[in-house]
This record gives sequence, structure tokens and C-alpha cells, in this order.
Amino acid sequence: MTDNNTPIPEPLSAGLYIVATPIGNLGDITLRAVDILQRCDVVACEDTRVTGKLLKALKISKRMQRYDDHSGEGARASLIDRARTEAVALVSDAGTPIISDPGFRLVKDAREAGIAITTLPGACAVIAGLTLSALPNDKFLFAGFLPVKEKARIAALEEFAATKATLIYYETGPRLVKSLHAIAEIWPTREIAVAREITKLHEECRKGSAAQLAEYYTSNPPKGEIVLLIGPPEDQAFAGDPDALLAEALKTLKISQAAGEVAKATGLDRKVLYARAMELKQ
Ligand code: SAM
Repeated sequence: MTDNNTPIPEPLSAGLYIVATPIGNLGDITLRAVDILQRCDVVACEDTRVTGKLLKALKISKRMQRYDDHSGEGARASLIDRARTEAVALVSDAGTPIISDPGFRLVKDAREAGIAITTLPGACAVIAGLTLSALPNDKFLFAGFLPVKEKARIAALEEFAATKATLIYYETGPRLVKSLHAIAEIWPTREIAVAREITKLHEECRKGSAAQLAEYYTSNPPKGEIVLLIGPPEDQAFAGDPDALLAEALKTLKISQAAGEVAKATGLDRKVLYARAMELKQ
């Protein structure tokens, strides 16, 4: 105890602490995150200005060291060295580090080096978006940001065409409408949710078909941060004859294209259709 009876905090044991921070509302910081940020020796962060603001709001004065996974082997090795004898807290600009944010390589190397690793869960836009959307959540697949280029974006979406789960992507305002148009082409009937500015003043979650949402956001260009969610395909067994569709498609398309088109039209597995198309072709 000090003279004024303020307890002296126990020193933290050495190691790497993965600390989630809010995605908008400061009130979402956890008690444990505040405690570790107060007691750690150094905060490794993406941007010292962003984390500096958070620490200031929490009335914490702490040494910061900039880190991202592109900082180079040297920066990573030096943080790992520190974590052998000191408490290193890893934060990102917002939310859970590592999830579409820096830290994966640091944690991987730290684990290989036998460093003690502790995680402090908290806000994460994927989970916040999913809970807000009221889309099926028994199975979901988070796939980061969609590619910027149109062809790659369509290929990335089609990769999960047969996946019976809610698909979740991080998205930006300027790209949202393009992504919605691409989704409307591939899955005109799937239920879509756009969760925007979660935990902030203008939080909203809008649902509809991709075409309806594309129309809305064309007239109301979206601002701020976005989670884009695509509900699972409807569980309707294809009742027709896939062989007939494949045979028709093979008249004009290559085997892989024919399998892709029929998979899109029927919801059947593309690999199975590909194998069948090979047989039919022979
Ligand atoms: N690691 C963070 C997390 O745990 O959520 C995500 C970091 S990623 C670089 C940033 C993206 O997350 C944004 O572009 C947006 O798609 C999504 N995001 C972050 N905060 C959000 C919020 N408050 N509302 C909606 N989406 C958000």
C-alpha cells in the first residue's frame, strides 16, 4: 500500500498480451483490457496516433512501439525479445488484433519462441455484424475484404458459392455498391445485410436482396465502416436432371465453365459436377 492507501498494482508477468479494443464506442473496452494496458511495459500498435488517443481517453500514459506485420523481421524479433522479460500488449487501431489486422506473424513467432501468450477478447466487427444482422449464425464464414478488382471479386465470391453458411466480408463505402452488384449477379435471391458504423452514433443494419440494397446505396452513398453479410443459400434440393443441364452447357462451354454454370444454377457441388461433366464428355 502507498501512503494514501492506493494499492500498488502487481507487476504483470512477461509475455505477449493480445488486447481487443473498441470498434467505435469507447464503453466497449473491457475491464481486463484497461488493466493490462495500465500494467504492461509497452504497447505494440499499428499507429501510435490512433492508440495514443485511446490511451489518453483511458488516462493511461504508456510507451508505444509501432508494429505491423510488414515492419520486418528485425522489429518483430525485437518485440519478441522484449516479451521474454517484459509485458508487451498488442493492439490494433480498433477491434481484435490479427482479424484483418496486424499481429499474426508476431503471435506465430512468439509461440515458436516459447513466449507466454495471453488473449483478451473484446469487440470484433465480424461478430458484432453477425449478431446485428439476424442472419443464420449456426454456420458462418468470414473471408476478410473482397478483392478490389472486379474479376477477382467475382472469383472470390464464387469460391464459396456452394457453402451453406452466412458469408461475412469487411467492406468500404466506396466499394459497397460494386460488391452488391456482383452479388446480385451471382445470388439474386440470397438475403443480404449491410451493418454500418456498428456501436457508433449512426449505427444501422439494412437488409434486402443485393439488387435492392445496391439501389438504396446508389441513392444514399454509405459513409463509415461496413460489414457485408450474405445469408446462406436456401436449402432446396435441386429436383431437375443435372446431366441434361451439363450436356446442354457442354455444347458451348469448356468442362470447368459448364460445371461452374450448372453449379450456380442448381446449387449443386461444382467439383461433383466437374467430375460428371468429364464423364459425359468422354
Ligand atoms: N480487427 C478489426 C475487428 O476486430 O473488427 C477489423 C479491422 S479491419 C482493418 C477494419 C474493417 O472492419 C473496416 O473496414 C470494416 O469493414 C470493419 N469494421 C470495423 N469497425 C467497424 C464498425 N464499427 N462498423 C462496421 N464495420 C466495422
